[in-house]
Amino acid sequence: MKRVYNFSAGPAVLPEEVLREISEEMMDYRGTGMSVMEMSHRSGVFDEILQTAEKDFRELLKVPDNYKVLFLQGGAHLQFAAVPMNLMKNRVADYIVTGQWAKRAYEEAKQYGTANKIASSEDQTYSYIPDCSDLPVSGNADYVYICENNTIYGTKFKTLPDTKGKDLVADVSSCFLSEPVDVSRYAVMYGGVQKNIGPAGMVIAVVREDLITDDVLPGTPTIMKYKTQADTGSLYNTPNCFCIYTCGKVFQWLKKMGGLEVMKRKNEEKAAVLYDYLDSSRLFQGTVRKEDRSLMNVPFVTGDQKLDAKFVREADEAGFVNLKGHRSVGGMRASIYNAMPREGVEALVAFMKKFEEENK
Ligand SMILES: *Cc1c(COP(=O)(O)O)cnc(C)c1O
Repeated sequence: MKRVYNFSAGPAVLPEEVLREISEEMMDYRGTGMSVMEMSHRSGVFDEILQTAEKDFRELLKVPDNYKVLFLQGGAHLQFAAVPMNLMKNRVADYIVTGQWAKRAYEEAKQYGTANKIASSEDQTYSYIPDCSDLPVSGNADYVYICENNTIYGTKFKTLPDTKGKDLVADVSSCFLSEPVDVSRYAVMYGGVQKNIGPAGMVIAVVREDLITDDVLPGTPTIMKYKTQADTGSLYNTPNCFCIYTCGKVFQWLKKMGGLEVMKRKNEEKAAVLYDYLDSSRLFQGTVRKEDRSLMNVPFVTGDQKLDAKFVREADEAGFVNLKGHRSVGGMRASIYNAMPREGVEALVAFMKKFEEENK
């Protein structure tokens, strides 16, 4: 068996310990004689998996009691629509557009009401986070929306925007559980789990209870109402059972690692290995304004497309895979989520140094 260092932006690397446990339980999950894929979502055994996953998630993120945790299908893209459908009472919302995913959410919201772009970093290929300390927040806005960590461009909000009292909605797909956060500052926080938590095919949404009502936009599908999902404990229909099970294992792993304070420190140290090298390299450069750098997604370039391609090819052959940058940015991107060990980043930097030597 050979494992590579996988720098994919998503679906992405998972802890080996989790993968091993799952493979051990595949033929016979704890004496049931079947795998989790094969069992009823209404069974007691699965109910325990679901309840434990929610409990551990709440504990890790310190989710306050007045928030519901929902396990939803349809990916982050379905939330681009579900957010306005559930929250746009006045049919007005303000969007801060810091990358492709925020832009998609903004475009989607326009279908349901007036979506205002109140700040953007599009003028410089989304390479920075705009100043959000005094935004023209609309008086009748139902919420202010951000994508907290921009997976493609490698930027992260280090401080949350001043929403002037409006509810904050955040897509946290690519920074979910990478550090502690104060959940009470958000009205809705949601993330696709395939970046930092589990396999593709599910979103975890953390929704403040007073926002969970029957007062949704006309035509909202029953399954997309937060109320439907909250009332049924995410079991209105068949959920993504195997994904919930895998996420649950990752939550256990995070707890064993010491929780989110420890993960934050580890992630900072790990990212520093790469950023420090980028700052000293004569060949490679980071593409993001320093103060806005993400701990999870690190884009970089040589400035020469041919050399970028050569690097990606040679890195791949050496076992550092999925380093090609997103097609909209070019160059390279190393995604270094929770499950990427520090040794992986150190090995990558050693490889980059060697490449720099050979291509002076
Ligand atoms: C990957 C990603 C998405 C898209 O997720 P899907 O599950 O494919 O819909 C949205 N937002 C962010 C921040 C992402 O990283």
